[in-house]
Amino acid sequence: MANSMEFSTKLIRETVAVDPQTGAANVPVYLSSTFHQKDFDHYGKYDYSRSGNPTREALENAIASLEGGVRGFAFASGMAAISTAFLLLSSGDHAVVPKNVYGGTFRILTQVLHRFGIEHTFVDTTDLDEVKKAIRPNTKVIYVETPSNPTLKVTDIRAISKIAKAHRCYTFVDNTFMTPVFQRPLELGADLVLHSATKFISGHSDVVAGLAVAGSEDLAGRLYFLQNALGAILGVQDSWLLLRGLKTLDVRIRKSAASAQKIAEFLSERPEVNNVFYPGLPDHPGSDLQLDQAGSGGAVLSFELENEASARAFVHHVTLPVFAVSLGAVESILSYPPKMSHAELSEEERIRSGIGDGLLRLSVGLEDADDLIRDFTAALASVRRNRRQTVGSGE
Ligand SMILES: *Cc1c(COP(=O)(O)O)cnc(C)c1O
Repeated sequence: MANSMEFSTKLIRETVAVDPQTGAANVPVYLSSTFHQKDFDHYGKYDYSRSGNPTREALENAIASLEGGVRGFAFASGMAAISTAFLLLSSGDHAVVPKNVYGGTFRILTQVLHRFGIEHTFVDTTDLDEVKKAIRPNTKVIYVETPSNPTLKVTDIRAISKIAKAHRCYTFVDNTFMTPVFQRPLELGADLVLHSATKFISGHSDVVAGLAVAGSEDLAGRLYFLQNALGAILGVQDSWLLLRGLKTLDVRIRKSAASAQKIAEFLSERPEVNNVFYPGLPDHPGSDLQLDQAGSGGAVLSFELENEASARAFVHHVTLPVFAVSLGAVESILSYPPKMSHAELSEEERIRSGIGDGLLRLSVGLEDADDLIRDFTAALASVRRNRRQTVGSGE
């Protein structure tokens, strides 16, 4: 039964737990930092909430099962999870990391881990030869984030995991954009999965949280040690909110992804749009691989207007999405990577990474897709008017 169960059923089974004492249909919020020990010599399962808390543990067990791993860990943020995972490495170790990795991950590698002698090489992980060439005798981790942010390039998790195994190193995958609904990296051969649960898993722009799932007992034991030692754990109330968010993850992300597909197709046909980056579009270079390893293009896309003035006019005229950083929420979120997520890159680095002045990223929420398309149609008309005026004034 367990194996034939659909993912949506499993999601509910793992997040609804009837409390044996009261019959409550939800995991209680155990707001307790310490636990009474009944026996002078033998202590119970819980002693102190940094080391273990029943509400947090319910969340950790749920994500472990959903990702198909042996143990889950909840952290205070995605960066807390990622930083703790990188501390599995020691001074003198080396990591191969995507060039267009999440900005916070870039920052901790270049400005923190570097100071402790943990080295890295940035590569294009969609190019397997480049990955192989970057591996050194001291490489311990190949890090993957797929699809990438914000240009949605697709990396082959199976192929990378194979390369990593042949070189006795781990594969870590940041699965924030796909969630286990669409992509389960451990089943594709990876060793550790990381999430910014702030995004789709929480789903309501109301919690900052991170999750990690280890695929083996060895890695689980080492990560548990670090979680407890460093202490960047997720609080009890936020753990409960994530459990609640998880329950609707399947319906939320599937609806958002279906709308993203429709919106990507709409934008591709518009003359004001120079480029659409969405791995669910058949002409996207990674679309076959994406459909094979994730079964969906996901709920995030980006598109390029002519220039900054056009992007500005578009943002000014849309009425439905919020204009903000972050993604993966019930409300659509429009962001401008050159000034938001990728503001730290130099102009040259930014252009080299395909993040032009007219690029906008859209995380599609739960509004009706046709309403979003109507909103964007009107905003694109303003972009066109704006362009005519600028040309007309001789600028
Ligand atoms: C947001 C994000 C992170 C960082 O997570 P926080 O919860 O903000 O610390 C890491 N990776 C990806 C892909 C993200 O989108």
